[in-house]
Amino acid sequence: MTQTGVRVERQPLSRYTTLGVGGEAEIWFVETLDQLREAVSAPYRILGGGSNLVVADEGVPERVIRLCGPLAKADLEPDPQLSTAGDIVTGWVGGGTPLPGLLRKLQGLGLSNLEGTVGIPAQVGGAVWMNAGTRFGEMFGGLHSLELVTPQGTRTVTPDELDWGYRNSGIPRGEIVSRVRLRLRASTPPDVQARMTLADDARKGQPKMKTPGCAFKNPQGVAGKGAGRLIDEAGLKGTRCGQAMISPEHANFIVNLGGATAADVHGLLDIIRRQVPVPLELEYELWP
Ligand SMILES: Cc1cc2nc3c(=O)[nH]c(=O)nc-3n(C[C@H](O)[C@H](O)[C@H](O)COP(=O)(O)OP(=O)(O)OC[C@H]3O[C@@H](n4cnc5c(N)ncnc54)[C@H](O)[C@@H]3O)c2cc1C
Repeated sequence: MTQTGVRVERQPLSRYTTLGVGGEAEIWFVETLDQLREAVSAPYRILGGGSNLVVADEGVPERVIRLCGPLAKADLEPDPQLSTAGDIVTGWVGGGTPLPGLLRKLQGLGLSNLEGTVGIPAQVGGAVWMNAGTRFGEMFGGLHSLELVTPQGTRTVTPDELDWGYRNSGIPRGEIVSRVRLRLRASTPPDVQARMTLADDARKGQPKMKTPGCAFKNPQGVAGKGAGRLIDEAGLKGTRCGQAMISPEHANFIVNLGGATAADVHGLLDIIRRQVPVPLELEYELWP
C-alpha cells in the first residue's frame, strides 16, 4: 500500500499504447498532486495517450505513471481574474485529459485556438510535452500556463519561460505536465467546426488501424520528399514483419495487424533504414 493510496497494478503497456504493443510494467494510477509527488519518489516514466510510443515486449523496469481521476478532467470555466477582453483563460485542465474529447467540448462552446490539433490521439500532458500539432495549429497556440512536477517540487510557468518551438516544448524530460490553463479566443461552434474539418481533411490518407503515428521525421533537403514518399519509392508499402506492416495507404505509418510485437516493428524499421538511401530520424519514442 502506498502512503497516499495510489492504485498500483502490474499490467501490459500494450493496453495503453495506440500501437497495442508493449510488455508489463508497474503502473501507478495517480489522481492527485500528493499522489503524483509520491509517485516521482523512485525512477519513473510518465505515460500519456501512448500515441507516440513503441514499448519493448519486455516492458520497462521503472514505475509508469498514468494521470487519471481529477488529473484527467478539464475545468473550462473562464477564470475572471486571468481572462481579458481578447483572451479567455480557463481553470485547470489535467495533463491526463484526452485531447480529442477536450477539443469536442471546446468546439461545442465555440472556443478557438486548439482546433488545429484535431485528430491527435494524445492526452493533454503528452501533447503539450511534444508541442504536438499540425500545419493548422499546435498546443502552444492555446496555453496560458503550465504546472510541472518533478522529484524536486512543483513549479508553474508560462510559455514565455520555456524555450519552445516546432514539436518541442522545451520542458526537460522527466518533468511532468500535471495541469495546464488554456488561453482561448471566443468564436462560434460552426466556425470552430469548419476549421476542425479543414485540419481533419488533411488526414484523409492516413490509416485507421492501430499505429503510433508517423514512424520517421521528414528529412531536410531531399527535394521536398517526405519520409513517406521515400519509403514508398523504395517499394516498401505493404511489407510485413510478423504481424506489423508498412501501411499500403501511407508508407510512413506502421500498423499492427493484430498481435504484433515490438520486435516485429523494429524489424520493419530496420528494413526501412537499410532500403531508403537517405538517413531517416525516428519520430516514435522507444521505451526503454
Ligand atoms: C493516428 C495518429 C496521428 C498522429 N498525428 C499527429 C499529428 O498530427 N501531430 C503530432 O504532433 N503528433 C501526431 N501524432 C503523434 C502523437 O499523438 C503525439 O506525439 C503526442 O504528442 C503524443 O502524446 P501522448 O499523450 O500520446 O504521449 P505518449 O505517447 O504517451 O508519450 C510521448 C512522450 O510524452 C511524454 N509525456 C506523456 N504525458 C506527459 C505528461 N503529462 N507530462 C510530461 N511528459 C509526458 C512521455 O513520457 C513520452 O516521453 C499522431 C499519432 C497517431 C497515433
